[in-house]
This record gives sequence, structure tokens and C-alpha cells, in this order.
Amino acid sequence: MAYKEKICPKCSIKHNKRGEFCSRSCGNQKKHSHHTKLALATIQSLRMNSDDPVAEEQRYALAKVNGAVDPVPPLTKTPLQSNQFVQDGDIWTET
Ligand SMILES: [Zn+2]
Repeated sequence: MAYKEKICPKCSIKHNKRGEFCSRSCGNQKKHSHHTKLALATIQSLRMNSDDPVAEEQRYALAKVNGAVDPVPPLTKTPLQSNQFVQDGDIWTET
């Protein structure tokens, strides 16, 4: 199956593939403006410095990748208290 013949706007090659670009690498060549990059960076920075648990895990993963000495892993759930125990996957509290 072939599509109508057209010229790739990036590399000017004639092709008859789906879409306007000849390949995925040509289609991914979009140039973002400085304003767009700044907006994306600001949003990402706000999110990464928030208390969101997903952001905490990503900060931890980034610290490990960047070679931080002994990064502190985020608490994914509250630790067991002294009067609690786990049986069959459920948390029980002794009273
Ligand atoms: Zn192309």
C-alpha cells in the first residue's frame, strides 16, 4: 500500500509514505522556540521540586544516576509502628 507521492519538508526527498515526512527522524526535527523551551523547563522544575511522590522517586533516581553519595530513598509508605504487624498482606494493629 502506498500513499500519494510527496516531498519531505525536512530533507526534500520524494516519498510515498504515510504523513508528510519521509522518516521518523525527519518528523522529530521540530525546532522549539526559546519561549516554549523556557515554559517547559519552568513547569518541569516546579513539578520536580514539589511534594509529589512520583517526583520524589524521580529525584532519587536522578541522584543515583548523577553519582550522589548515598542518596536517601523516598518513603513509599509509612513504616510499621511498634504495635502493628503484617499478616497475609494486611496491616493489623494490636490494641
Ligand atoms: Zn526526510
